[in-house]
Amino acid sequence: MAQSGEIELCHLTKRFDRTVAVDAIDLAIPHGSYCCLLGPSGCGKTTILRMIAGHETPTEGDVRIGGESVVGLPPVRRGTAMMFQNYALFPHLTVLDNVAFNLKMRGVGKAERHQRAREMLAQVRLDQFADRMPSQLSGGQQQRVALSRALITNPRVLLLDEPLSALDEFLRLQMRGELRRMQKELGITFVHVTHTQLEAIAVADMVVVMDQGRIEQAGSAREIYTLPVSAYVARFMGGQNVLTGKVASVTDGIATLVSDTGERFSSPLNGQVVAEGDVLHCCVRRDRVALERVRRPPGALPEPTNAVVGAVHAIEYQGTYVKVTIDVPGREQFVANVVDSKFFANPVDIGDPVVARWVPEDVHLLTTSGQAGETHG
Ligand code: ATP
Repeated sequence: MAQSGEIELCHLTKRFDRTVAVDAIDLAIPHGSYCCLLGPSGCGKTTILRMIAGHETPTEGDVRIGGESVVGLPPVRRGTAMMFQNYALFPHLTVLDNVAFNLKMRGVGKAERHQRAREMLAQVRLDQFADRMPSQLSGGQQQRVALSRALITNPRVLLLDEPLSALDEFLRLQMRGELRRMQKELGITFVHVTHTQLEAIAVADMVVVMDQGRIEQAGSAREIYTLPVSAYVARFMGGQNVLTGKVASVTDGIATLVSDTGERFSSPLNGQVVAEGDVLHCCVRRDRVALERVRRPPGALPEPTNAVVGAVHAIEYQGTYVKVTIDVPGREQFVANVVDSKFFANPVDIGDPVVARWVPEDVHLLTTSGQAGETHG
C-alpha cells in the first residue's frame, strides 16, 4: 500500500519580515482526497503549498505527512511532487526525457526510466508524442507532460500551483476533469491552489477558503457553496445575496430582521441564541429569488417582508439562466439568477422597477460576520 498522504498543518505560520503570509493555520487533509486552497491573490495559498513541498520553512508550527513531521526534510524526501502553472518543461529535452527526468536525478538507469516514462505517458494518452520536443505540443499536451513528470516518482502527495491558469477556457475545463480522473485513479492526495471559485468546487472533495493568511472555512464544495459560514465566504463564492439586519423579534426559531433601510427579512436561527437588537448576517441564494416587474417606482411601494425592491441594473444571459442585477437604494446590489424559460416568459428590461422575493426556508444564517470579500460571478 502507498504511504499515507494525509497532511496535517498544525498552527502553521509564515512571516516574511512584517508580512504574515500564513497565520497559525490548522488543517487536516485526508489521505487520497482532492483539496483546493482557494482565495484572492496574496491570501497565502502558494506559501502553504511551498511549506508542504519543503521550498519554504515555517516560522512556527508543523507540517505532518502520513503522521510524521516533514519540517527540515529536503523536498525529495517528503514524498511530494509539485506541478507549476508554467509547466517548467525543459525545452531541449524530448517529452520522454522530460518525464523521465526526476528518475534520472534519482539514479535510475536509462532503460528502466524510459520504460516507466512511457507507461506514465500512456496514462495521460500521450505515448505517441514521446519523441517530440515540448515546443511541438499544444498547451494542453504540455500540461499533461508536466503532470506525468510530477507523478513519475510515485508521490503520495501532488501539489499543484494554479495548474490550469495558462490554458484557454475550453482546455481548462477538459484538464480539470482530467486532473480529477487522475487523482481518483491514483488514489493519492492532491492539493491544488487556485483563485477560481468554479474550478475549486468542480474538482475538490475539500475546499479551503482563505483570507489574509487565515482559513475562513473548510468543507465539501457543496457545504462551502450552499452553507457559507461568513459574509466573506458567501460573497467570495458568489451565488448568494448577503442580507444584514437587526433582530426585531424571534418566533419559533425564526428571527425577523430589519435592515438599515427598513426592509424586513426572516432568518432561521438554527439553534443560535440571539437577543433583540443583535446585528445578524444571512444570505439567500441567487437561484432561489423570484423576480416580478412592478408598475410603481420603487419608493412608492409598501415594504414587503423577504423581498427587496429596486431597478434592473444589468441583464446577462448565461445559457441555462439569466443573471439579473438589481440596484437597491441604500444597499449592495442584489442578484437574481432566473431560469431562462421563466425569464423569457415574462422578461424584464434594464431600468424596470422590480421586486425580488424569496421564502424564509431559502435563507441561511451566517455565523461569523467577516465583511471583506468581493462579489463574483
Ligand atoms: P497569488 O494567488 O497571487 O499567488 P497567494 O495567495 O498564493 O497569491 P502568497 O504567494 O502565498 O499568496 O503570498 C502571501 C503573502 O506573502 C503576500 O502578501 C506576499 O506578498 C507575501 N510573500 C510571499 N512570498 C514572499 C517572499 N518570498 N518575501 C516576502 N513576502 C512574500
